[in-house]
Amino acid sequence: MNSSEINTVISKNLTWAKIGKGKPEFELAYVALPLSCNLKCVGCYTGRKSFYNGDKIFSKDKLVDIFAFLKQHNCKSIIYAGDGELFNWSKAKEYIDFVLSYGFGMCIFTNGTMLTKKMVAYLSLVV
Ligand code: SF4
Repeated sequence: MNSSEINTVISKNLTWAKIGKGKPEFELAYVALPLSCNLKCVGCYTGRKSFYNGDKIFSKDKLVDIFAFLKQHNCKSIIYAGDGELFNWSKAKEYIDFVLSYGFGMCIFTNGTMLTKKMVAYLSLVV
């Protein structure tokens, strides 16, 4: 995205905020699931099991709602960052496939310790 496109999005969003015309647009969105992390770095609130609550991971129906909303607002990429380690989740690949099926790009922040060669090969093709 170049600066002209960024300025266009900012201008549209300011117009929406000021006079309610149009709708807000998002170039990207952080979607926190949240997940556990296999590490426990000093100063991180997510570390190991302290933050994990598997019951709070969005259901597939909820993700459908969220992604549909983001599509309506011209979102182009989903970011996974924080709130645990994506590859500590058995459904990581399924989730990535689901994100990509909407035509979103994806950016993943990972500590890298759980990446397998197979997963890296997969990611190199799709993300
Ligand atoms: S989420 Fe990142 S910073 Fe936090 S414990 Fe895991 S690897 Fe460390």
